[in-house]
Amino acid sequence: MILRHPRMGGHRILLAAASTLALAAAAGSSATFAAGDGTKPVAWEDILNDEKTTGDVVSWGMGVRNHRYSSLEQINVNNIDKMKPSWSFSFGDEKQRGQETQALVHDGVIYVTASYSRVFALDAKSGKKLWSYSHRLPDDIRPCCDVVNRGAAIFGDKLYMGTLDAGIVALDRKTGKVVWNEKFEDHTAGYTMTGAPSLVKDQKTGKVLLIHGSSGDEFGVVGRLYARDPDTGKEIWMRPLVEGHMGRLNGKDSTTTGDAKAPSWPNNKDGTKVDAWNHGGGAPWQTATYDEKTNTIVIGTGNPAPWNTHYRSPGDSLYTSGQVYIEPSTGEPVGFFQHTPNDAWDFSGNNPITLFEMEKDGKVVRAGAHADRNGFLFITDTDKLTARDGKISKQAGGAFGIYPMVPGISWAKDWNLATGRPNEVEGQRPPKPAEGETKGKSIEVTPNFLGGTNWMPMAYNQDTKLFYIPTNDWKEDYWTENVTYKKGAAFLGQGFRIHKQFDDHVGVLRAMDPTSGKVVWEHKEAMPLWAGVLTTKGGFVLTGTSDGYVKAFDAKSGKELWKFQTGSGVVSQPVTWEADGKQYIGLASGYGGAVPLWGGDMADQTKQVSQGGSFWVFEVPQTTAAN
Ligand code: CA
Ligand code: CA
Repeated sequence: MILRHPRMGGHRILLAAASTLALAAAAGSSATFAAGDGTKPVAWEDILNDEKTTGDVVSWGMGVRNHRYSSLEQINVNNIDKMKPSWSFSFGDEKQRGQETQALVHDGVIYVTASYSRVFALDAKSGKKLWSYSHRLPDDIRPCCDVVNRGAAIFGDKLYMGTLDAGIVALDRKTGKVVWNEKFEDHTAGYTMTGAPSLVKDQKTGKVLLIHGSSGDEFGVVGRLYARDPDTGKEIWMRPLVEGHMGRLNGKDSTTTGDAKAPSWPNNKDGTKVDAWNHGGGAPWQTATYDEKTNTIVIGTGNPAPWNTHYRSPGDSLYTSGQVYIEPSTGEPVGFFQHTPNDAWDFSGNNPITLFEMEKDGKVVRAGAHADRNGFLFITDTDKLTARDGKISKQAGGAFGIYPMVPGISWAKDWNLATGRPNEVEGQRPPKPAEGETKGKSIEVTPNFLGGTNWMPMAYNQDTKLFYIPTNDWKEDYWTENVTYKKGAAFLGQGFRIHKQFDDHVGVLRAMDPTSGKVVWEHKEAMPLWAGVLTTKGGFVLTGTSDGYVKAFDAKSGKELWKFQTGSGVVSQPVTWEADGKQYIGLASGYGGAVPLWGGDMADQTKQVSQGGSFWVFEVPQTTAAN
């Protein structure tokens, strides 16, 4: 049943909303929200309950558990073939490149970030620009993988955005004026920020914290996670994610991350740490999720630096390429599960962890799902990983299941769940250059370093209980090179060339069952997939393609139901909301990201894609919306 209301003014909106809520509860449908003027403040409860409220999108991931699922069903498998654009907005000027953003929608206003650290506030009904902000960037920024921005955070009367010059800025939501601007690190060393910040209310102190990380692993930064006062921008704590580095709390040294001696990183003969440890990576460059039950922040950590494994062996290179669980009061790590011990392939581990429940051996368990660049889907044990048992590393028994997402994974055969470690394939760590050579022997690795999936977030449908994962089937030639750390220069020690794995496709949208690892359906694309996914109670899955389409599929069967050409490649994250009884879907178009820069054969393939930068909103016209 779909509830529809005429526009109402003044206090009658409250009455209408209240009665609609009651009706909606009775009908098992969702509430109807009136479009506002953007003046309503955002409370922590709005963020915590975002997953359930269909009238707004006030968190990255459409909920602190990152399901990217909506209970709206006005647009559904029966009418989505009638979907049409409501309006489109151009980000304008000569700055284009990749638009990887996820929009926020609140009280009648859409807040959407764009490439080059820009943000726009748009009237959600008409697409009219209310204000825009363009961060002034120095010429010497060092983003590894395009000048993207993946979204903003919203709280109170402010909007927060990370900037490419290693800063974070708070804007007045009504005017776009800067309230505070904090530079958190030296951008000339390679620190930058592309991920969306997020908010958490620490249950111990009752304080709301602004959480953000940094990027820069390809330049040998030490990855750091920060908590700030959302009102002033002042740092509350900082947590480095290379073992043995010192954290900060309230402006003072706090504790080292893990063991102060950092046994997971090798020593020189004189007992000092190898230089790689000083530049060890592990940057948490995506967005944290939040486990409300245990009051824990969960975030993925990036690859160790340099990529070349020989500079970091022996040892696991903790706490890189894994998922880390953090106490919000102090920034202390309480749990860690490593996806790629001593990552030799830039697999990183940054993709957001989606928290959900599933049935396991006849009982309901709390689980985390993480799709990794290394080709595997990780289903981890949330209760174990959030336990305050004094141990950080929780490999043994830390996962319920670890399943291949892509065919032909060459670096590991499978996983030993009892130890929580991969059964690695001999010869897949590229050998050192021979004496007198600068390059090692090239080996073939699947997936390549851009990964079985990359940054683009999957979605979890609460009805089908399936994950919808944007994956890529591809491989690489991969060889070591000698490298010395130099501030601001690439710190890889690896060479590579990306190739196709199959003639007919690279991108594959895969529906996977987290209880069994079974691939339920798949949809293939000629070009790589690089966009996030949305799914709804209306029974569809929606994502974008590199050749410019937005496409919708039946969540149960994978049948393609609808597509629309946006004019540039789509690498953003779709969202849905309702206003005045009508459901909308919104996403950005504009091609870029890592593939055209690093993708070898696929970079050549994507040269045909036009640049762009626009935001699109779709609806099913009212005459056909009734079901
Ligand atoms: Ca919501
Ligand atoms: Ca990396």
